[in-house]
Amino acid sequence: MTNDLPLSPSPSLPFSPSPPSPLLPLSLLLYNPSAMTTALVYDQAFLNHQTGHHPENPDRLRVIISALQQDETLWTKLRHRTPRPVSDEDIMRCHSYRLIDQVRSLCDRGVPFVDLDTAICAQSFEVAKLASGAAIVAVDDVFNDASNAIALVRPPGHHATSNRAMGFCLFNNVAIAARYAQVHYGADRVLIIDWDVHHGNGTQEIFYRDPSVFYLSLHQYPYYPGTGSAGERGLDKGEGTTLNIPLSEGTSAAAHREAFADALRAIEKAFPPDLIIVSAGFDSRRGDPLGGLMLEDTDFEEMTKQVMDMADRHAAGRVVSVLEGGYNLDTLGETVRTHVAALNS
Ligand SMILES: [Zn+2]
Repeated sequence: MTNDLPLSPSPSLPFSPSPPSPLLPLSLLLYNPSAMTTALVYDQAFLNHQTGHHPENPDRLRVIISALQQDETLWTKLRHRTPRPVSDEDIMRCHSYRLIDQVRSLCDRGVPFVDLDTAICAQSFEVAKLASGAAIVAVDDVFNDASNAIALVRPPGHHATSNRAMGFCLFNNVAIAARYAQVHYGADRVLIIDWDVHHGNGTQEIFYRDPSVFYLSLHQYPYYPGTGSAGERGLDKGEGTTLNIPLSEGTSAAAHREAFADALRAIEKAFPPDLIIVSAGFDSRRGDPLGGLMLEDTDFEEMTKQVMDMADRHAAGRVVSVLEGGYNLDTLGETVRTHVAALNS
């Protein structure tokens, strides 16, 4: 039966003695527009950000990659990409040069902390530039020929403000990626959806007066870092393009999901995006040692599909997911695998 399919490769095509025309490379002859291509951006160098006895440690990425590799079907379908470090110019669209210089200098001098929460080592500056670079490569991929992309990175980024590294974060990976998409691909409206258990105070601050980047966060509240009340809605021209959904500890998954769906519906009317970036923190899963919310893996799967549906309607499907938190090493691998499988479905 498969021999009747028009796209089935004929033995005479790719292996023909006469080479294919340079105008029709093999990749195009075999291109199937209905197939999902999910780019996975990852580098083993992310393990070199050594934090000692700390919840944000290299084992997080080890369990995630292991869970993905054990799903051989999914692993082989992913397009594996390696990041390049961001330039100072890329970082400075979101952060002051003073912050870049401070992080570089602390790492060079072997100082083990940026603040009480945020551990670093000598390699952390370079690793952080690679983490932001991975988010940028993911943007490149979705504006070229990938359907969507996930950057599995450390350190995370959403607490890093324009002037301050904090909350395990050095540079704000999603913010840098959003600005990069605007500058390099003309994305007029970028929607950042942050489902980490913590409020992304850094991302909010960077875009608080900016109507071209919408920041949506659902998070446990009151909780670290203290920001993220419903009254924080943006300022000046950015008023209305920040939406905070504070959730009390122990909020049921059903209520959480309903709030998420309501928020997406409201945003879609007012701000149809050209690109959706997910600040994908999985510490909002039930049982996370740093969180008190109740989402299950199936909830992340459904939320991922809702984001993809919205991206299909407005953004040619472009979704870039960037890892933030998630600290339960017993469950994190499977949660992320479920999320990636949904992206690839
Ligand atoms: Zn978090």
